[in-house]
Amino acid sequence: MSQIPFMDLSDCYNQVYDEIMEKIGHLIDNTRFIGGEEVNKFEEEFAEYCNTEYCIGCGNGTDALVLALRALEIGQGDKVITVPNTFIATAEAVTNVGAKVDFVDVEEDTYTMDPEKLQNYLKNQDSTDNIKAIIPVHLYGQMANMEEIMKIAREYGLKVIEDSAQAHGAELNGKRPGEYGDIATFSFYPGKNLGAFGDAGALVTNNEGLYKKVKMLANHGRLEEKYKHRVEGYNSRLDSIQAAVLRVKLNYLEEWTEERIKNAKYYDDFLTDKEVVTPVVRKNARHVYHLYVVRANKRDELRNELSNEDISTGIHYPIPLHLQPAYEYLGYKEGEFPISENVSEEIISLPMWPELSNSDIKEICSYL
Ligand SMILES: *Cc1c(COP(=O)(O)O)cnc(C)c1O
Repeated sequence: MSQIPFMDLSDCYNQVYDEIMEKIGHLIDNTRFIGGEEVNKFEEEFAEYCNTEYCIGCGNGTDALVLALRALEIGQGDKVITVPNTFIATAEAVTNVGAKVDFVDVEEDTYTMDPEKLQNYLKNQDSTDNIKAIIPVHLYGQMANMEEIMKIAREYGLKVIEDSAQAHGAELNGKRPGEYGDIATFSFYPGKNLGAFGDAGALVTNNEGLYKKVKMLANHGRLEEKYKHRVEGYNSRLDSIQAAVLRVKLNYLEEWTEERIKNAKYYDDFLTDKEVVTPVVRKNARHVYHLYVVRANKRDELRNELSNEDISTGIHYPIPLHLQPAYEYLGYKEGEFPISENVSEEIISLPMWPELSNSDIKEICSYL
C-alpha cells in the first residue's frame, strides 16, 4: 500500500508558507538578522503560551540546558540528576558546564523520572551537599510527576530544570513546563512540536533574576552596553528569521497539538485489542504526543514487518545513556537501571504528526 513516513514536515509548512516567506522577505529587505522585533515579540508570545513571566530565545535546546545550568551557577564539583532514557543532550549539558551527571530510573508506565527512586537515591547518599539540581525530562510530550518531584526538590534544596524539548503545551494539573521548576528549556529543532527552519531553542521562567542571567549568558555575558562583558558567556542567540518562523507557527500550535491528540486517540482505539501497550497518560495531564510510543515484546520483528510495508518507525531511545560508549567513564553496568533498559528493548515510535490521516493510522495498526 502507501508509503508512510515517520514524520512529514511539509504538510504543516504548506499551511504557513506564504505568511512565513513574506516575513522572511521583509527581514532580508531590512537586513535585520539578529535581535529586533521578531525575537522580542516571539519571546513575549512564547512566555504567554507557557504561562510564565519570561522567555529567552537561544541557539538550540542543548544550549538552553547549558544556559539554565550556568544561570543556576552549577559547575565543577556539582552533581546533577536526570534519567537514563533521554536524548544525550540532557546529560551532555551537565558535563559541558563541568558538573557530574547521575541517573535515577523511570516509572514503568510513563517512562518519566520516578519520584520514589529519586527519593531513595537521595536518602541513600552519605551527603547530598554536592547534589545541586535535577532535570526531569517531559518525555514524548508528557510531563513528569512534577508535584512529587518538586516536593523532593524542596526537601533537599535542589534546583529543578524541566527539559521540555518534547513538551510544548503539555500540562499537568493545569500547569505547563516552567510553572513548576525554576526554569524550563525548549528545543525548536524542526521535528519538535514547534519547529523552526533550522536550529533554535528557548528557556522560560518566572524568576526575574534567572531571566536576566540567562539573557546575559546567551549574549557573551553582556547586558546593556555593547562591549561591556560582566562574565564569559556564549553566543547562543535566537536569530530573527527563526523567530519570525516560530511566531507564525506558534499561532497554529494549539490547533496542531489538538490534531496530535486526536491522532493518538485514533491509535489508542485501533490498538485496543492488539498485543502492544499504548501510552499511559497521567491523571489531570495533557499529553501533547511529540511521539506516539507503544511497547511490544517482539519489537524488532514488528519494526521489520512495518518496514516491509513501507512504514517508517523510530526508537526513542535504543541505548539508555548509562550504557552509551560516551558514558563508559562513569562506570555503570548493565542492570543498574532495569526499567530504562527493558523499555529501550520494547519501545517503538509510530508515525505521528498533526496531518497524519485516520486511514493511515488504521493501516499502520492493521500490521500490529
Ligand atoms: C531535542 C532534545 C534536546 C536537544 O534539543 P536541540 O535543539 O536538538 O539541541 C534536548 N532534550 C530532549 C529531551 C530533546 O528531545
